[in-house]
Amino acid sequence: MAEETIFSKIVRREIPSDIVYQDDLVTAFRDITPKAPTHVLIIPNHLIPTINDITEADETALGRMMSVAAKIAKEEGIDEDGYRLIMNCNEHGGQEVFHIHMHLIGGRKLGPMLAK
Ligand code: AMP
Repeated sequence: MAEETIFSKIVRREIPSDIVYQDDLVTAFRDITPKAPTHVLIIPNHLIPTINDITEADETALGRMMSVAAKIAKEEGIDEDGYRLIMNCNEHGGQEVFHIHMHLIGGRKLGPMLAK
């Protein structure tokens, strides 16, 4: 059984967080250390530790994560200029929190896709 992270507590509103969207499948909240004017994390409400753990049963939640990303980008006024969606997996991907999350980053011109 995978260990819960702080993100499960955010979903249940047990700790403070700047939640911008929540429904029965996903929660979106502002990253605590934003890398750009808009930096929102979109997560499934149920715990999936890494992208490697995704199963077919998760596909509805994963699809919702994408549509919610587009909705938030529009609300933030960054949809036309553009933005980036990032999901990190395990050590080489730089994953720090083991509850999958999609970073929605924008509000300024972003640099090259990979730092190196
Ligand atoms: P990753 O490296 O892809 O696992 O990204 C984890 C992200 O979670 C980082 O950008 C952190 O700043 C962010 N983060 C960690 N704890 C919190 C929190 N309590 N509320 C909001 N964002 C958080």
